[in-house]
Amino acid sequence: MSEEKFDVIVVGGGLAGSTAAYILAEQGLEVLLIERGNYGGSKNMTGGRLYSHSLEKIIPNFAEEAPVERRVVKEAVTMMTENDAVTFNFRSPRLAETGSDSYVVLRGEFDRWLFDKAEEEGAIATSGIKVDELIVENKKVKGVICGGEEMLADVVILADGVNSLLAEKAGLRPRVKPSQVAVGAKEVYELPSKVIEDRFGLEENEGAAWLFAGSPTNGLVGGGFLYTNKQSISIGMVVNLERIGESDKTIEDMMNEFTKHPEVAPLIKDGKLVERSGHVVPEAGLSMVSTLYGDGFLICGDAAGFCLNIGYMVRGMDFAIASGEMAAKAVLKAREKEDFSSATLKIYKDMLDESFVMKDLSLYKKFPSFMDNPRIFNEYPEMLSNIMADMFIVNGNHGIPLRKKAMKHIKSVGLLNLVKDGLRGVKSI
Ligand SMILES: Cc1cc2nc3c(=O)[nH]c(=O)nc-3n(C[C@H](O)[C@H](O)[C@H](O)COP(=O)(O)OP(=O)(O)OC[C@H]3O[C@@H](n4cnc5c(N)ncnc54)[C@H](O)[C@@H]3O)c2cc1C
Repeated sequence: MSEEKFDVIVVGGGLAGSTAAYILAEQGLEVLLIERGNYGGSKNMTGGRLYSHSLEKIIPNFAEEAPVERRVVKEAVTMMTENDAVTFNFRSPRLAETGSDSYVVLRGEFDRWLFDKAEEEGAIATSGIKVDELIVENKKVKGVICGGEEMLADVVILADGVNSLLAEKAGLRPRVKPSQVAVGAKEVYELPSKVIEDRFGLEENEGAAWLFAGSPTNGLVGGGFLYTNKQSISIGMVVNLERIGESDKTIEDMMNEFTKHPEVAPLIKDGKLVERSGHVVPEAGLSMVSTLYGDGFLICGDAAGFCLNIGYMVRGMDFAIASGEMAAKAVLKAREKEDFSSATLKIYKDMLDESFVMKDLSLYKKFPSFMDNPRIFNEYPEMLSNIMADMFIVNGNHGIPLRKKAMKHIKSVGLLNLVKDGLRGVKSI
């Protein structure tokens, strides 16, 4: 067995890992970035939208050089039943202001760009190599083993994504539970830019983000999403892994129904299906965050559980980038002290606690349990669409006051349930 020693080994060339490697290499450290896919991003998937703020701090004006698709200027949230859709729309130039802006991205291209940036800064960025296990001695992580070859480092940064099997195998963190994650399925439909712009009311380079709740997931915890790329549309859904086991439908059935829904089908009409992918996403918020550091190691991005789904917004990529940055900064501090023990690496957790990462996860800590309520995905979309139907349908039948009609639909869900769920909802945000 040959042994090589690096300052830092980063496992995983996703956004968390490549960010950490980029910053450390920029500071002159000898960094080995190891990605199991054929190139950085080849195995990665997202719905589509990156909130720019965390990367903007590290690479100002990154969107001018990075392969971003469109800048989001339009948001939509839809409650759906089998045939109906009630949509809330928001369009504002404020969504596009630097620092508050967000971009639709395709991870294959976007992650590859960041992975290559880390390499340009001097990181040894290797792809097509899987880390099989960590070298741990007396609870201290000393390096990694790939294909029987040992590689040593002062610190190993684990940025290997949601399951982080390496950390689990080494006993550094507990196994992820099915209730804590969702399965994501996504399809990409190619369409000419002009068609996309006309369909969604966009100008060139402008993008739309659209989330759906209710029938897309067959009433289960989760939701649908749609993002406009330059010349394609990303569409998909996430469904809680534990709940999907209780369903009589597969995620494929649900995707078929979702893409054929009368609200959705015209949006992807005549599009050519060019990609299908699946991935797991952390969904349990703060309760999923466990070990973040220890002797000789740090855990960041999805591997640490840093992801937030609050129904109208999904955020994991900005957390991945920010946690990768903080992991890199913690290593730089540890180097100053020449101490890579947990006592020094704890600074990573301190930085996270002071940042939006832990603050936002704490803020929304009650949201995942609020969402685990079938009424949100069944009765409420039904109630809302019935009220809308009563508001808008004129058929010559003589008038019953709208408040009475609405009350009938509200009572079918239960006024008390509505008040109770409303209060829980307000408290969870
Ligand atoms: C369906 C879906 C929709 C989403 N929508 C959004 C969204 O719209 N906005 C948003 O911000 N977030 C979204 N997310 C979440 C977001 O994609 C993740 O939070 C983000 O990808 C986390 O980045 P990461 O770098 O931590 O992990 P990953 O992107 O998973 O990267 C981990 C990397 O580690 C590599 N790896 C794993 N094990 C090994 C090993 N043993 N050896 C070497 N390499 C290894 C993998 O190949 C991979 O490249 C979504 C996720 C899903 C699944």
